[in-house]
Order: sequence, then structure tokens, then C-alpha cells
Amino acid sequence: MTGIKDITVTFRTDLPLWPGDPTPTTTLMKSQEAGSRSNVTRIDTGVHFGTHLDAPRHFIADGKGVDELDLNMLVGPCVVAEVLGVKEITPGHLEALNIPAGTKRLLLKTDNSALWETPNHDFDVEFVAITREAAQWIVDRRIGLIGIDYLSIQLFADRDAATHVILLSVEVIIVEGLDLREIAPGAYNLTCLPMKIAGADGAPVRAILTAA
Ligand SMILES: [Zn+2]
Repeated sequence: MTGIKDITVTFRTDLPLWPGDPTPTTTLMKSQEAGSRSNVTRIDTGVHFGTHLDAPRHFIADGKGVDELDLNMLVGPCVVAEVLGVKEITPGHLEALNIPAGTKRLLLKTDNSALWETPNHDFDVEFVAITREAAQWIVDRRIGLIGIDYLSIQLFADRDAATHVILLSVEVIIVEGLDLREIAPGAYNLTCLPMKIAGADGAPVRAILTAA
């Protein structure tokens, strides 16, 4: 692979919106067309919109905010693994991936990625995610960053917070809303940096892969 692979979904206000989350807006507050010297856009968005990460504070009241995350975990070697044709990713699916021992960052490419062919699709409750047992598998394997290609690591039908809590209580960083359509399974270097917002429970990220 040469160059940089961008695995970020472009921020636009018509991306799928998690039910009940704030509707994002962008507004041109100053515009040259209207006689201003400059163009200045205002954005208004929930922090779990589009490609973003979850900090522990998302589900752990006294957990770290995005501004306190360990940057060492947000940059470094990562494995992209493909789990196609399943709706619920279990420990069995993860075990079968045979990811190398010592893997610290794991991105799961699922059937979700195809949804990004149409960025403005309606939120799809049928998205692929991991079970709480799979979350525990990730913790047991000492993986420090887990990414997935839709808006939650947790199954929509899982109405309690177990999957998130298992991961966030030991400060596993969760990256959601990745676009992995163009990415072949394998080893890469990940750079995935959140906007540094004081105390925030999540933040938009620009996520890229480069050659391992
Ligand atoms: Zn989130």
C-alpha cells in the first residue's frame, strides 16, 4: 500500500443520526458573499456523530474525557480484520480471526461498511456490532483500541450498557463510524486523533491508515 488511506466518513449533517441524539447543523455565520471579509462556519453537533471515538466518560461517570486519553494508543500499529456475513460478533468470531498476539489496536470491517456507499442513508438499527462476551474477549486480550464501521460497538438491541461499560471501565478506546470499504484486511499503522475538547465523553476524529 502506498500513501494514506482515509477511513473517516466526511462530516455532513445528513449522515445517519443515532435515535434521540442532537441533530447536527452547519451554518455560515459570516460570508464573503454577504459582504463579510471572511467566511466563518458554525457547527453544532453531538460528539457521537459520524466518525468519532468514545472516551470512558461516555458511560463511566468519573472516567477520562477525550482530552485525557493516552495518545500512544491513538497512534500505532493496528490490525484490520474482516467479519462478514454476521450480525452479532461473538468471541468465536474474534478467535477465528487469528489476530497476532500482542495486537493493541483492532478495527473490525463488517457488512456495515457497505452502508457508507450512501452516506445520507437513514440510521440502520440492523447494524453489525459485538456482543458483551466479545467485549470481554477484547479486554482479556489486552487490546487497547477497538474500532468498528458503524455508529456503535454495541448491538442496537442490547438495551443495557454492558458492552460499552466492559470496554470503557478499563479504558479501551472505542472508535465508531469508520469507513473501511476500501481497506483490505491486514496490518497497518493507525492515526486516530480526537478534537481535544475539555472533559468531553467523545469527539469526532480524523482516522487514517498508512502502511505497516
Ligand atoms: Zn460513540
